[in-house]
Amino acid sequence: MQCPSCQLENPPTAEVCDCGYSFTKRVQTRRTAADSPEVLELRAIARSVKSIRTMALFWTCVMIVSAILAAIQFNQIEERLKDVQKQFVPTELRK
Ligand SMILES: [Zn+2]
Repeated sequence: MQCPSCQLENPPTAEVCDCGYSFTKRVQTRRTAADSPEVLELRAIARSVKSIRTMALFWTCVMIVSAILAAIQFNQIEERLKDVQKQFVPTELRK
C-alpha cells in the first residue's frame, strides 16, 4: 500500500511507514529527519544556490554569445575597411 504522506510504497503488512505515518492510526506518528528545521533550511539554501547557479550559467552563455557576435561584427567591419581602402589605393596611385 502507498503511504498518503510520503507516497512511499509499503508492504501490505506494514503498520508504520518509514516517514512515520501510521497506517493503523492514520496519522503522522513522528517527525522524521527530513522534516526537521535544519533540513528544511538547507533545502531552501540549496534551492537558492541552484537558482543562482542557473542564473550564472545563463549570463555566462549570454556573455559568450555576445563576445562571438562582437567578434563577427569586428571582422565584418575590418573586411569593409579593407574594401574601402582598396577603392582608395588606385586613385592615389593615379596621381
Ligand atoms: Zn510515508
